[in-house]
Amino acid sequence: MNKPYAIIIGLEVHVQLLTSSKLFCGCSTAFGAAPNTQTCVVCTGTPGALPVMNRQAYLLSVKAALGLNCQIARLTKWDRKNYYYPDLPKGYQISQYDMPLSRDGHLDIPDPEQEGQVRRIRIIRAHLEEDAGKSMHDEVAGKADSRIDLNRAGTPLLEIVSQPDLRSPAEAKNYLTELKLLLNYLGVSDCNMQEGSLRVDANINLHVATPEGNVATPIVEVKNMNSFRAVERALAYEAQRQWELWQETGQRIGDVPKQTRGWEEEAQITRPQRSKEESSDYRYFPDPDLAPVTISEDAIAHVRQSLGELPADLRTRLVGQFGITPYDSDVLVSQGRPLVDYFIAAAEACRDGKAAANWVQQSVLRVLNERQMPIEQFPVPPAELGRLIDEVQSGKMETSRGREVLAEMLATGKSAAAAIDALGIVQVDEADLETLCAELLASNPKVVDDLKQGRLKAAGALIGQAKKRNPNVNATRVREICLQLVQRM
Ligand SMILES: [Zn+2]
Repeated sequence: MNKPYAIIIGLEVHVQLLTSSKLFCGCSTAFGAAPNTQTCVVCTGTPGALPVMNRQAYLLSVKAALGLNCQIARLTKWDRKNYYYPDLPKGYQISQYDMPLSRDGHLDIPDPEQEGQVRRIRIIRAHLEEDAGKSMHDEVAGKADSRIDLNRAGTPLLEIVSQPDLRSPAEAKNYLTELKLLLNYLGVSDCNMQEGSLRVDANINLHVATPEGNVATPIVEVKNMNSFRAVERALAYEAQRQWELWQETGQRIGDVPKQTRGWEEEAQITRPQRSKEESSDYRYFPDPDLAPVTISEDAIAHVRQSLGELPADLRTRLVGQFGITPYDSDVLVSQGRPLVDYFIAAAEACRDGKAAANWVQQSVLRVLNERQMPIEQFPVPPAELGRLIDEVQSGKMETSRGREVLAEMLATGKSAAAAIDALGIVQVDEADLETLCAELLASNPKVVDDLKQGRLKAAGALIGQAKKRNPNVNATRVREICLQLVQRM
């Protein structure tokens, strides 16, 4: 169905960088410590304490920006964003205003409308800033008792701002998924949403088709979305709400101030928060305590060389090199580089990319999920899995028997060859197989009748009996041979 409006979405994503210390002091950024144990005079805003930039945070930001195809500014500076908030002890946040460290990039994402196609989403800028602390409101106990934890204050955040190029909630979700994957591959952030390492704000409005041309509705910023699913749902809700509001009021952009709304997960609705400050309200000015940062072309080139193979290139390579489908390639790449490396080693060992992709997706991933285990801890080395796949592909055993072998390898740590021996698996030779099939047909006249009448499903009963007599038989071969024998009868 064609809707009489287009949905216009831009995302602001904050990711916590994988540094061991904060952006302007040496305090630890480790998650989960007791409140206010990772603080110092700098991040608690004691007058006279001076910030010093964390070089690693800056370099990780440059790396992320290059991965997003951004231009890196040779000169960048720090600005104070002034506002008062209990979890911001300095009364200002150190951020970057008019000279961000990078701008004008893009990220290609899978088009949710057309499989195999990509949509290019432009990136306005990626800049670095410090995080605030955390307020904890003990409203549940009815005491309205608020406490402040400043462990997070001063943690480096990279803010990545997209152009309003996203056209649907599904596309927003794809953008976030691809962005998270990219940052994981770059080793820039763990993007753990539960721990707040990745936070998303969305700007959304509609362009409504009217007889006088397209009309934009007021922009709403949606906050407080705790998962990619929540982002998708919140945006779908918000688009519908804005469409109904438009029909009711006809309000256009500029008629009302920009509104901020929060997503309420339990009710599955957005609700108004405060009206959004304009940037002039923040009284930005350059931070006099911090020197501007310069970077040379050589240094940028050096970071660029460290990017490694990015997800989009890797997907293409796996398809070309191993003959797997784009879908399989996407599944593997989305699991992260260590799993891809495992797949590649297994595929090279068995010289069959498609079979290796199937085994990794169907067997390895299942075990990893069941045991909540990273691939690095998977007990079967990829070369051994490759040997097992090789035996299955060569016809020594069926896939189902191969899975039993893998289970044996997992349980005992045996090699593929030893596990095959332990299970007594030997390839049944063709002559023995024919003898077996002939015997089965002789003792199952009803099945023979059915097969003669073309009721081929009846062969299933023979396969079951064959397996009972010799678990090593290949079901496909038993079926083929039985049908041949019946034809000759
Ligand atoms: Zn500190």
